[in-house]
Order: sequence, then C-alpha cells, then structure tokens
Amino acid sequence: MTEHDIPISQPSALPSAGPSAGPADAADVIIVGAGPAGSTTAFYCAQAGIDVLVLEKSRFPREKVCGDGLTPRAVKALVGMGISVGEQDGWVRNKGLRVIGAGKRMELAWPELASYPGYGLVRGRTDLDQTLARRAEKAGARLQEGVTVTGPVLDERTGRIIGVTARPDGEGERAYHARVIVAADGNSSRLSVAMGLRKRDDRPLGVAVRTYYQTPRHDDDYLESWLDLWDGDRLLPGYGWIFGMGDGTSNVGLGLLNTSAAFGHTDYHALLRRWLNGMPAEWGFVEENRTQPIRGAALPMGFNRTPCYYNGLLLAGDAGGLVNPFNGEGIAYAMESGEILARTIVQALARARRAETERVLAGYPQALSDAYGGYYALGRQFVKLIGRPGLMRFATRHSMSRPALMRFALKLLANLTDPRGDAADRLVNGLTKLAPNPE
Ligand SMILES: Cc1cc2nc3c(=O)[nH]c(=O)nc-3n(C[C@H](O)[C@H](O)[C@H](O)COP(=O)(O)OP(=O)(O)OC[C@H]3O[C@@H](n4cnc5c(N)ncnc54)[C@H](O)[C@@H]3O)c2cc1C
Repeated sequence: MTEHDIPISQPSALPSAGPSAGPADAADVIIVGAGPAGSTTAFYCAQAGIDVLVLEKSRFPREKVCGDGLTPRAVKALVGMGISVGEQDGWVRNKGLRVIGAGKRMELAWPELASYPGYGLVRGRTDLDQTLARRAEKAGARLQEGVTVTGPVLDERTGRIIGVTARPDGEGERAYHARVIVAADGNSSRLSVAMGLRKRDDRPLGVAVRTYYQTPRHDDDYLESWLDLWDGDRLLPGYGWIFGMGDGTSNVGLGLLNTSAAFGHTDYHALLRRWLNGMPAEWGFVEENRTQPIRGAALPMGFNRTPCYYNGLLLAGDAGGLVNPFNGEGIAYAMESGEILARTIVQALARARRAETERVLAGYPQALSDAYGGYYALGRQFVKLIGRPGLMRFATRHSMSRPALMRFALKLLANLTDPRGDAADRLVNGLTKLAPNPE
C-alpha cells in the first residue's frame, strides 16, 4: 500500500505540537471567511451533505467596504441559492447602467439574455453577507463567528495543510482539522500568504474608495458610472459610481487601476472630493450629508493569486484574485467560484482513496480557467490599454456618441452574453476564446 492508497474517511492526524483540538473542531471541510465566496462554498457543500465548518473573524451583521452594486450575474448567483430577491425583502432593483463621460450621458439597459436576468440589484453588504451566511447555515453548514484564523496546521512530513489554528473571541488559540481547507478570507488572504501564495505583480490590481451620502438620488433605478476621473489634465483608468441604496442614501465611490502612472501616489479621498465638487448642488454630495467615513480597499483582479489549489489549500473569491478586470465586480465571481469549488469538493470527497480525491481537487484551477481564463486574459489586456491616458480619452470620446458600441461594451465589460446569442455575444465569446491564456 502506498501513501496514496490510504483511505481518507478520517481527518488527518493532529500535529504533534500546537494547540489541541476536540471533536467540535473537526469537519470534512473548513472554510475560512464567510463573505460571498465562503458562504456560497459552504452552502453548496452543505447542500450535498458534507460536514462544513465556516470560521469567520467578525460577527454578523458586519460592514464590508463595497459599492454594493450587483449586476445580473450576481442576481443569478443569488437566485441559484434560493434567495428571495424581491423588493419587499429589501433589495433595490436596477434596469441597467447609466454611463457619463466626455460631456455625454447614456442609459444602457441590461441585455435581454437567456443566461442572466434582465435586472441588477443594490444591497448593503451588512445585509447581503448576513443573508448569504444564514442561507449556508440553513443548508446545514456550521458557522462560528468571532473566530480569527491565525495560520495553517501542516502535516509535518508533507507540508500539506491539514487544518488551521484560530482564536475564538476572548479565548486562547486552538487547532481545527479537516480533509479540505478553503481560503475565502478576502483580498489579503493571510492564510494563502502563510502557505506561500502571494499576490502576483504581473496581474491587475485596483484600489477603490467609497462612502455614503444622504441624497434625493437614493432611489435611482440605474447604476451610474462616471468615466471622467481627472488627475490634472490626465484621464485616469477607472471610474466613479453613484449607486442609490433606496434608504435615503447613495453609495458613492471610485476605483483606479494599477496600470496608471498615478496609481500608488494618488490621494483617493482628495480625488473623490474633487470629482464630487463638480456635481449639481441639489444632489447633496457635500460633507454635511456624508453618513459614513470614506473607506477603501484593494481589488485583486484577473487571477491575481495563483495557483488556486496548492498543498491542500483551495482559494475562492478575492483570495484567488478573481475580481473582473473589466469592471471591478467581485461579488458575482466570489459566489460563482464558491459554487465551482463546492462542486469540486463534493466530487473529491466522494472518492474512496486519497490519490483519487487529490486528482479531483487538482482539477479546480482548470475548472476556474474554463470559466474565466480567456475572459480574464482579455481583461488583462484591456487594463493595460486603458492605462494609457491618450487611448483612454480617445475611447471614451469615440464610444460615448455610439450607442450600439456602448451596448456591446456593456456586454463585454459586465461579462453578460449567451453562449449562442446575437452577433455581439458571439463576438465577445470569440474574443474570449482567442485571448492567449497563460497560467
Ligand atoms: C470600495 C470597493 C467597492 C466595491 N464595489 C463592488 C461592487 O459594487 N460590486 C461588486 O460585485 N464588487 C465590488 N467590490 C469587490 C467585492 O467587495 C469583493 O470582490 C467581494 O467582497 C469578494 O468576496 P469574498 O467573499 O471573496 O471576500 P470578502 O467579502 O472580503 O470576505 C472575506 C471574509 O473573510 C473574513 N476573514 C478575513 N480574514 C479572516 C481570518 N483570518 N479568519 C476568519 N475570517 C477572516 C472577513 O471578515 C470576511 O468576512 C468592491 C470592492 C471595494 C474595495
């Protein structure tokens, strides 16, 4: 019998040193982080009868810095989890995207497709993330809130992750063990870093800041995006947004890409204020109406951390750098990658022998690449191009007077096509297939 022939019906042996673990500290799958990626992974695993333990450092309801905008892709992911997204449940619907740039404004309805609903949503992350976490719990996942994961527990002989150390609020550090460990701990993913998986310098990264203002614009039925972010006479690669929350406030923010020379030495708060100074006074985007601090965070894009499976650790959502490089959307991709990962885990754990389980788990990066590889490769080229201010200015001016071109751009930038749709869908799908897609 080789080491690969050992049946794996039990969690791996405890490490010889380190904190002790009790039976409540073991599971088939441990997921670190209960954001959209972690809760979706947990939901689909639990639904298939797998024993899942989710460790989350905060306690719900909790804030998360975000634009709170959900495209039809995210709506589809929510609907797939059986979440009721009616307006009576607190969701604010939108019909599409209003784009403002080069002195023009254009309303673009979400495309009519078989694959995605024709509307988007806005929902504060305090509510959204709690809803997703509770949905996972209802499906049978065990969620422990107020538990901060501090590092991996490694098999001394192989270096493979077989558990995590964690500190529940007000208690000492202890170990938790599982057959499979998932890092869904967001952009900084300390667990991935502890396993030697760092962000890639050759992949795009964004930085975004946001806040909330009391405003009459709070019940807008379009997501609004401003392409004109200026640094002196330079047009910056990024955009500003105004998303009505439907509660008297709007989420207002902006994001920039690291392909710009301005990246890294931009004062984002000042940029936000400068941009808002140019808005009509009656919208009320002034200090007295600001209801929250201005907060920011990084957006890891286009497979910013690879590989997504390494030494027993599987990465989902921002931990794997899965934000869409075209538009900075991350929630849908966190949820979709969570579903892809859960389906991989369910199949892997159904295999009788370790080597077979390993083979299935090792297929996860390929499954992600099948889903996003070509599209994200194209996105990485796009990000490089719009990092050139002259080109960005030309593209904005040129496209804002061409509605058909902008409708095509919406499909491309929001990744909303049918496999066998209209000519625009086929063009986007074709470009995606042609894009060179290195690891
Ligand atoms: C300013 C801004 C605006 C954005 N706007 C949008 C938008 O409008 N639409 C959109 O789709 N995306 C947007 N994004 C991106 C989106 O927020 C992320 O892509 C998304 O939250 C990723 O989900 P996740 O589950 O991978 O990670 P997260 O949402 O970051 O969740 C990670 C979870 O892990 C927990 N955690 C972390 N470390 C530990 C630990 N050591 N132990 C235990 N738990 C831990 C955290 O508390 C958190 O709950 C925006 C991002 C920013 C910064």
